[in-house]
Amino acid sequence: QAAKATQSRIAFYDRSMDRNKSEQLIMLGELNTALESDQLRLHYQPQVDLTSMRIVGVEALLRWHHPDGSVLSPSAFLPTAERTGLIRPLTSYVLTHALAQRGRWMAEGLELSIAVNISTRNLFDDTLIEQVSAALQQFDCPPGRLTLEVTESSAMTDPAGAIETLSILHAMGVQVAIDDYGTGYSSLAYIERLPVQELKIDKTFIGGMAHNSAHAAIVRSTVELARTLGLSVTAEGVEDEVTMMTLRELRCSRAQGYHLGRPTSADRLPALVAEIDDRLNTATGERIS
Ligand code: C2E
Ligand code: MG
Ligand code: MG
Ligand code: MG
Repeated sequence: QAAKATQSRIAFYDRSMDRNKSEQLIMLGELNTALESDQLRLHYQPQVDLTSMRIVGVEALLRWHHPDGSVLSPSAFLPTAERTGLIRPLTSYVLTHALAQRGRWMAEGLELSIAVNISTRNLFDDTLIEQVSAALQQFDCPPGRLTLEVTESSAMTDPAGAIETLSILHAMGVQVAIDDYGTGYSSLAYIERLPVQELKIDKTFIGGMAHNSAHAAIVRSTVELARTLGLSVTAEGVEDEVTMMTLRELRCSRAQGYHLGRPTSADRLPALVAEIDDRLNTATGERIS
């Protein structure tokens, strides 16, 4: 009886594995098509400098406009891309499209820095450096205007390897940010050894600041320590005015979040930037006087 139960459990398990595998294969095929037929789009989310209260940059965030009419967020397809190696052409797509777009905004008189997320596999991909330098050159982007965002846990996969790649990027003049800071297990002592210039405090801490004193304390001490280490700090997931002004008082460098603006298509971004700049500078002007 017991053996039978085990057997059927195994059979069930195997079937579901097969189904997951074939689902993955289907998605892989669809993703390949998506890459080739312009179904992948970048949305851009503004980042504000909390000293000048101006929009200084944007983060590129990937969306998949699926032929079935839905728009898929990265969490729905990045794991498959990462597992199958499709992440390499995908990141290359993101880099070139983001830098091309930055060039178009420049031509319209809108100068923005651009942040691109890279995955664990990209960080340990020998072709990353070549891809980055080729894209910078092709779109005439000063290296200092590009930030690559790497999560703590990516870097921790192989700390020595991460240091090696990040050092080369640093030598090229590219900015590197640690994304989702606080959600991994690394210490600031480890981060201090990485050639990075920026920490992005994860949105769970920022979202919790207003009503969770532990989160507020984590944010406060991270901002202070980062400043001591000469790193700039971006708060992600800023959803309200009080949180933004608290971060400004803490002298956090930059903020990003729905309160400022949601990720937006490239064509609508200039209007959003103008609207935010207006909103912020009217508001802070009134507050200061
Ligand atoms: P991330 O890099 O930490 O990006 C921030 C995420 O928070 C984005 O989710 C953004 O839409 C969301 N967000 C922004 N402001 C707020 C806010 O005020 N409140 C809340 N609750 N969320 C906010 P998204 O676009 O779904 O991206 C999720 C993750 O997928 C990103 O996290 C990043 O790790 C990854 N990702 C996105 N685009 C790319 C890409 O082109 N390449 C790679 N490798 N990863 C990407
Ligand atoms: Mg990011
Ligand atoms: Mg993040
Ligand atoms: Mg993330």
